Amino acid sequence: MARFNGKVALVTGHFSFFFFLTQVFIGSSNGIGRATAILFAQEGAKVTITGRNAQRLEETKQEILKSGVPESHVLAVVTDLTSEKGQDELIDSTIQIFGRLDILVNNAGTAVTDAQGRTGLDQDVSDFDKVMQINMRSVVTLTQKAKKYLIESKGEIVNVSSIVAGPQSQPEMMYYGMSKSALDQFTRSIAISLIPHGVRVNAVSPGYVVTGIVESIGFPPGSFEKLAAYWESHKECIPSGKIGRTIDIANVIAFLADRKLSSYIIGQSIVADGGSTLVMGIQAHDMMAILAS
Ligand code: NDP
Repeated sequence: MARFNGKVALVTGHFSFFFFLTQVFIGSSNGIGRATAILFAQEGAKVTITGRNAQRLEETKQEILKSGVPESHVLAVVTDLTSEKGQDELIDSTIQIFGRLDILVNNAGTAVTDAQGRTGLDQDVSDFDKVMQINMRSVVTLTQKAKKYLIESKGEIVNVSSIVAGPQSQPEMMYYGMSKSALDQFTRSIAISLIPHGVRVNAVSPGYVVTGIVESIGFPPGSFEKLAAYWESHKECIPSGKIGRTIDIANVIAFLADRKLSSYIIGQSIVADGGSTLVMGIQAHDMMAILAS
Protein backbone atom coordinates (compact mmCIF):
# COMPACT_ATOMS: atom_id res chain seq x y z
CA MET A 1 0.00 0.00 0.00
CA ALA A 2 1.27 3.50 -0.86
CA ARG A 3 2.60 5.22 2.26
CA PHE A 4 0.27 8.26 2.13
CA ASN A 5 -2.91 6.34 1.25
CA GLY A 6 -5.92 7.91 2.98
CA LYS A 7 -3.97 11.08 3.87
CA VAL A 8 -4.77 14.61 2.74
CA ALA A 9 -1.88 17.00 2.15
CA LEU A 10 -2.06 20.76 1.61
CA VAL A 11 1.06 22.08 -0.12
CA THR A 12 1.39 25.85 -0.56
CA GLY A 13 3.27 27.18 -3.58
CA HIS A 14 3.70 25.14 -6.75
CA PHE A 15 5.91 26.79 -9.33
CA SER A 16 6.22 30.31 -10.60
CA PHE A 17 5.60 31.83 -14.00
CA PHE A 18 9.23 32.78 -14.20
CA PHE A 19 10.14 29.23 -13.48
CA PHE A 20 8.07 28.30 -16.51
CA LEU A 21 10.15 30.63 -18.65
CA THR A 22 13.26 29.19 -17.09
CA GLN A 23 12.09 25.72 -17.94
CA VAL A 24 11.84 26.74 -21.57
CA PHE A 25 15.37 28.03 -21.49
CA ILE A 26 17.11 25.40 -19.41
CA GLY A 27 14.66 22.51 -19.64
CA SER A 28 15.16 21.07 -16.18
CA SER A 29 13.88 23.08 -13.25
CA ASN A 30 10.66 23.13 -11.29
CA GLY A 31 9.33 24.39 -7.98
CA ILE A 32 9.76 22.60 -4.66
CA GLY A 33 6.00 22.75 -4.03
CA ARG A 34 5.15 21.12 -7.31
CA ALA A 35 7.67 18.29 -6.83
CA THR A 36 6.30 17.75 -3.32
CA ALA A 37 2.66 17.68 -4.43
CA ILE A 38 3.49 15.19 -7.20
CA LEU A 39 5.38 12.95 -4.76
CA PHE A 40 2.60 12.97 -2.16
CA ALA A 41 -0.04 12.29 -4.83
CA GLN A 42 2.00 9.48 -6.39
CA GLU A 43 2.34 7.93 -2.94
CA GLY A 44 -1.41 7.86 -2.39
CA ALA A 45 -2.29 11.22 -0.78
CA LYS A 46 -5.05 13.54 -1.89
CA VAL A 47 -3.44 16.94 -2.42
CA THR A 48 -4.55 20.55 -2.35
CA ILE A 49 -2.30 22.84 -4.36
CA THR A 50 -2.46 26.60 -4.39
CA GLY A 51 -1.06 29.73 -5.99
CA ARG A 52 -2.21 33.13 -7.19
CA ASN A 53 -2.50 32.51 -10.92
CA ALA A 54 -5.24 30.17 -12.22
CA GLN A 55 -3.52 29.31 -15.48
CA ARG A 56 -0.22 28.44 -13.85
CA LEU A 57 -1.96 26.45 -11.16
CA GLU A 58 -3.82 24.47 -13.82
CA GLU A 59 -0.47 23.68 -15.47
CA THR A 60 0.77 22.30 -12.17
CA LYS A 61 -2.42 20.26 -11.77
CA GLN A 62 -1.95 18.80 -15.26
CA GLU A 63 1.65 17.84 -14.37
CA ILE A 64 0.35 15.92 -11.37
CA LEU A 65 -2.36 14.18 -13.42
CA LYS A 66 0.20 13.28 -16.10
CA SER A 67 2.03 11.23 -13.48
CA GLY A 68 -1.00 8.91 -13.25
CA VAL A 69 -2.82 10.45 -10.28
CA PRO A 70 -6.66 10.40 -10.48
CA GLU A 71 -8.32 13.81 -10.89
CA SER A 72 -10.39 13.23 -7.73
CA HIS A 73 -7.13 13.33 -5.73
CA VAL A 74 -6.15 16.88 -6.74
CA LEU A 75 -7.78 20.12 -5.61
CA ALA A 76 -6.40 23.34 -7.07
CA VAL A 77 -7.36 26.50 -5.18
CA VAL A 78 -6.41 29.89 -6.60
CA THR A 79 -5.61 32.21 -3.74
CA ASP A 80 -3.22 34.83 -2.46
CA LEU A 81 -1.85 33.45 0.79
CA THR A 82 -1.29 36.93 2.16
CA SER A 83 -5.08 37.29 2.37
CA GLU A 84 -6.72 35.66 5.38
CA LYS A 85 -9.96 35.35 3.42
CA GLY A 86 -7.99 33.40 0.80
CA GLN A 87 -6.53 31.19 3.50
CA ASP A 88 -10.02 30.48 4.87
CA GLU A 89 -11.16 29.44 1.38
CA LEU A 90 -8.13 27.18 1.07
CA ILE A 91 -8.75 25.34 4.34
CA ASP A 92 -12.55 25.27 3.96
CA SER A 93 -12.47 23.85 0.43
CA THR A 94 -9.91 21.20 1.43
CA ILE A 95 -12.14 20.06 4.29
CA GLN A 96 -15.29 20.29 2.14
CA ILE A 97 -13.83 18.22 -0.72
CA PHE A 98 -11.49 15.81 1.08
CA GLY A 99 -13.04 15.77 4.58
CA ARG A 100 -9.79 16.01 6.56
CA LEU A 101 -6.29 17.42 6.68
CA ASP A 102 -3.27 15.32 7.67
CA ILE A 103 -0.24 17.16 6.29
CA LEU A 104 0.41 20.89 5.91
CA VAL A 105 3.49 21.91 3.91
CA ASN A 106 4.20 25.62 4.30
CA ASN A 107 6.30 26.00 1.16
CA ALA A 108 5.21 29.20 -0.61
CA GLY A 109 7.77 31.91 -0.19
CA THR A 110 9.85 34.52 -1.87
CA ALA A 111 12.70 36.97 -1.52
CA VAL A 112 12.16 40.58 -2.52
CA THR A 113 15.05 42.40 -4.13
CA ASP A 114 15.44 46.12 -4.68
CA ALA A 115 15.10 47.32 -8.29
CA GLN A 116 17.99 49.71 -7.67
CA GLY A 117 20.18 46.96 -6.23
CA ARG A 118 20.13 48.25 -2.64
CA THR A 119 20.82 45.57 -0.02
CA GLY A 120 21.05 45.19 3.75
CA LEU A 121 20.07 48.23 5.79
CA ASP A 122 19.80 50.35 2.64
CA GLN A 123 16.95 48.26 1.26
CA ASP A 124 13.58 49.87 1.87
CA VAL A 125 11.71 48.51 4.85
CA SER A 126 8.60 48.04 2.67
CA ASP A 127 10.50 45.08 1.12
CA PHE A 128 10.94 43.69 4.63
CA ASP A 129 7.17 43.92 5.12
CA LYS A 130 6.49 42.10 1.81
CA VAL A 131 8.92 39.27 2.57
CA MET A 132 7.64 38.81 6.11
CA GLN A 133 4.04 38.91 4.91
CA ILE A 134 4.37 35.80 2.73
CA ASN A 135 7.31 33.94 4.33
CA MET A 136 6.23 34.37 7.93
CA ARG A 137 2.88 36.05 8.66
CA SER A 138 0.91 33.92 6.21
CA VAL A 139 2.57 30.78 7.61
CA VAL A 140 1.47 31.74 11.13
CA THR A 141 -2.14 32.47 10.17
CA LEU A 142 -2.53 29.47 7.84
CA THR A 143 -1.15 27.20 10.55
CA GLN A 144 -3.57 28.71 13.07
CA LYS A 145 -6.45 27.94 10.72
CA ALA A 146 -5.23 24.39 10.01
CA LYS A 147 -4.47 23.54 13.66
CA LYS A 148 -7.90 22.18 14.61
CA TYR A 149 -7.95 19.74 11.66
CA LEU A 150 -4.34 18.65 12.21
CA ILE A 151 -5.12 17.92 15.87
CA GLU A 152 -8.12 15.84 14.75
CA SER A 153 -5.95 13.80 12.39
CA LYS A 154 -2.81 13.82 14.59
CA GLY A 155 -1.08 15.22 11.58
CA GLU A 156 2.23 16.67 10.46
CA ILE A 157 3.48 20.13 9.53
CA VAL A 158 6.59 20.62 7.40
CA ASN A 159 7.86 24.17 6.91
CA VAL A 160 10.20 25.01 4.05
CA SER A 161 12.97 27.11 5.53
CA SER A 162 16.40 27.74 4.00
CA ILE A 163 20.09 27.63 4.83
CA VAL A 164 19.94 31.44 4.61
CA ALA A 165 18.40 31.30 8.12
CA GLY A 166 21.98 31.24 9.44
CA PRO A 167 24.24 31.21 11.33
CA GLN A 168 26.08 32.69 8.34
CA SER A 169 25.45 36.33 7.49
CA GLN A 170 23.21 37.22 4.52
CA PRO A 171 24.05 40.86 3.70
CA GLU A 172 22.68 40.62 0.15
CA MET A 173 19.36 39.08 1.14
CA MET A 174 19.06 40.21 4.72
CA TYR A 175 15.27 40.40 4.87
CA TYR A 176 14.87 36.98 3.27
CA GLY A 177 17.40 35.50 5.73
CA MET A 178 15.59 37.13 8.64
CA SER A 179 12.26 35.69 7.52
CA LYS A 180 13.69 32.17 7.41
CA SER A 181 15.39 32.58 10.84
CA ALA A 182 12.00 33.59 12.20
CA LEU A 183 10.42 30.57 10.52
CA ASP A 184 12.92 28.25 12.25
CA GLN A 185 11.97 29.69 15.65
CA PHE A 186 8.30 29.27 14.72
CA THR A 187 8.97 25.61 13.85
CA ARG A 188 10.70 24.94 17.17
CA SER A 189 8.10 26.79 19.23
CA ILE A 190 4.95 25.29 17.75
CA ALA A 191 6.57 21.84 17.70
CA ILE A 192 6.59 21.93 21.49
CA SER A 193 3.10 23.39 21.84
CA LEU A 194 1.53 20.96 19.35
CA ILE A 195 3.26 17.67 20.20
CA PRO A 196 1.07 17.11 23.29
CA HIS A 197 -1.87 17.15 20.84
CA GLY A 198 -0.18 14.56 18.63
CA VAL A 199 0.82 17.00 15.87
CA ARG A 200 4.45 16.84 14.75
CA VAL A 201 6.18 19.92 13.33
CA ASN A 202 9.51 19.95 11.48
CA ALA A 203 11.20 21.83 8.66
CA VAL A 204 13.57 21.34 5.78
CA SER A 205 16.37 23.82 5.08
CA PRO A 206 17.32 23.55 1.42
CA GLY A 207 20.56 24.84 0.02
CA TYR A 208 20.60 25.96 -3.60
CA VAL A 209 17.87 24.34 -5.68
CA VAL A 210 17.07 25.18 -9.29
CA THR A 211 13.56 26.64 -9.39
CA GLY A 212 11.98 29.86 -10.58
CA ILE A 213 12.73 31.74 -7.38
CA VAL A 214 15.62 33.82 -8.74
CA GLU A 215 13.70 34.89 -11.85
CA SER A 216 10.55 35.47 -9.82
CA ILE A 217 12.33 38.17 -7.82
CA GLY A 218 13.27 40.11 -10.92
CA PHE A 219 16.39 38.57 -12.46
CA PRO A 220 16.34 37.72 -16.20
CA PRO A 221 15.49 34.19 -17.42
CA GLY A 222 18.50 31.89 -17.19
CA SER A 223 19.90 33.63 -14.09
CA PHE A 224 19.67 30.59 -11.84
CA GLU A 225 21.34 28.47 -14.52
CA LYS A 226 24.25 30.92 -14.52
CA LEU A 227 24.50 30.92 -10.73
CA ALA A 228 24.21 27.13 -10.63
CA ALA A 229 27.12 26.66 -13.04
CA TYR A 230 29.30 28.94 -10.91
CA TRP A 231 28.36 27.37 -7.58
CA GLU A 232 28.79 23.82 -8.87
CA SER A 233 32.34 24.58 -9.99
CA HIS A 234 33.35 26.09 -6.62
CA LYS A 235 33.62 23.54 -3.83
CA GLU A 236 33.48 26.29 -1.20
CA CYS A 237 29.92 26.95 -2.48
CA ILE A 238 28.58 23.40 -2.93
CA PRO A 239 31.05 20.69 -1.85
CA SER A 240 29.04 17.94 -3.60
CA GLY A 241 29.47 19.84 -6.87
CA LYS A 242 25.77 19.52 -7.66
CA ILE A 243 22.99 22.07 -7.39
CA GLY A 244 19.91 20.64 -5.64
CA ARG A 245 16.93 19.25 -7.54
CA THR A 246 13.40 19.87 -6.35
CA ILE A 247 12.91 16.14 -5.79
CA ASP A 248 15.85 16.14 -3.33
CA ILE A 249 13.85 18.51 -1.14
CA ALA A 250 10.48 16.84 -1.80
CA ASN A 251 11.96 13.55 -0.55
CA VAL A 252 12.98 15.16 2.75
CA ILE A 253 9.53 16.74 3.13
CA ALA A 254 7.90 13.34 2.53
CA PHE A 255 10.25 11.73 5.06
CA LEU A 256 9.31 14.34 7.68
CA ALA A 257 5.61 13.86 6.91
CA ASP A 258 5.91 10.07 7.19
CA ARG A 259 5.39 9.19 10.84
CA LYS A 260 6.58 5.63 10.37
CA LEU A 261 10.00 6.91 9.32
CA SER A 262 10.51 10.10 11.33
CA SER A 263 8.29 9.89 14.43
CA TYR A 264 11.11 10.74 16.86
CA ILE A 265 12.11 13.95 15.04
CA ILE A 266 10.37 16.96 16.63
CA GLY A 267 10.92 20.64 15.87
CA GLN A 268 14.05 20.16 13.76
CA SER A 269 15.06 21.67 10.48
CA ILE A 270 16.83 19.09 8.33
CA VAL A 271 19.51 20.63 6.12
CA ALA A 272 19.68 19.35 2.52
CA ASP A 273 22.37 21.42 0.83
CA GLY A 274 25.08 19.31 -0.80
CA GLY A 275 27.36 20.28 2.10
CA SER A 276 27.21 24.06 1.58
CA THR A 277 26.77 24.95 5.25
CA LEU A 278 29.62 22.69 6.37
CA VAL A 279 32.37 24.64 4.68
CA MET A 280 33.97 27.99 5.31
CA GLY A 281 35.93 29.46 2.41
CA ILE A 282 39.29 28.69 4.03
CA GLN A 283 38.39 25.04 4.53
CA ALA A 284 37.51 24.63 0.88
CA HIS A 285 41.15 25.17 -0.07
CA ASP A 286 43.60 22.29 0.13
CA MET A 287 45.97 22.97 3.04
CA MET A 288 48.42 20.22 2.04
CA ALA A 289 48.60 21.54 -1.52
CA ILE A 290 49.32 25.06 -0.24
CA LEU A 291 52.08 23.79 2.09
CA ALA A 292 53.62 21.71 -0.68
CA SER A 293 53.77 24.64 -3.12
P1 NDP B 1 9.19 29.17 -6.79
O1 NDP B 1 9.27 30.65 -7.06
O2 NDP B 1 9.35 28.21 -7.90
O3 NDP B 1 7.85 28.84 -6.00
C1 NDP B 1 7.30 29.71 -5.04
C2 NDP B 1 5.82 29.44 -5.00
O4 NDP B 1 5.21 30.25 -3.99
C3 NDP B 1 5.14 29.77 -6.32
O5 NDP B 1 4.40 28.65 -6.72
C4 NDP B 1 4.21 30.91 -6.01
O6 NDP B 1 3.00 30.74 -6.72
C5 NDP B 1 3.98 30.74 -4.50
N1 NDP B 1 3.66 32.01 -3.89
C6 NDP B 1 4.49 33.07 -3.71
N2 NDP B 1 3.80 34.09 -3.15
C7 NDP B 1 2.53 33.65 -2.97
C8 NDP B 1 1.35 34.23 -2.44
N3 NDP B 1 1.32 35.49 -1.97
N4 NDP B 1 0.22 33.49 -2.42
C9 NDP B 1 0.21 32.23 -2.91
N5 NDP B 1 1.29 31.63 -3.41
C10 NDP B 1 2.44 32.33 -3.44
O7 NDP B 1 10.30 28.93 -5.66
P2 NDP B 1 10.86 27.66 -4.88
O8 NDP B 1 10.19 26.41 -5.27
O9 NDP B 1 12.33 27.77 -4.98
O10 NDP B 1 10.48 28.08 -3.39
C11 NDP B 1 9.71 27.29 -2.52
C12 NDP B 1 10.20 27.50 -1.10
O11 NDP B 1 11.54 27.01 -0.99
C13 NDP B 1 10.25 28.97 -0.66
O12 NDP B 1 9.77 29.07 0.66
C14 NDP B 1 11.74 29.31 -0.72
O13 NDP B 1 12.08 30.32 0.18
C15 NDP B 1 12.34 27.96 -0.32
N6 NDP B 1 13.73 27.77 -0.69
C16 NDP B 1 14.12 27.75 -2.02
C17 NDP B 1 15.46 27.57 -2.34
C18 NDP B 1 15.97 27.52 -3.74
O14 NDP B 1 17.21 27.55 -3.94
N7 NDP B 1 15.11 27.46 -4.74
C19 NDP B 1 16.48 27.39 -1.29
C20 NDP B 1 15.97 27.41 0.05
C21 NDP B 1 14.65 27.59 0.32
P3 NDP B 1 2.31 31.92 -7.58
O15 NDP B 1 3.40 32.74 -8.18
O16 NDP B 1 1.43 31.24 -8.60
O17 NDP B 1 1.49 32.67 -6.58
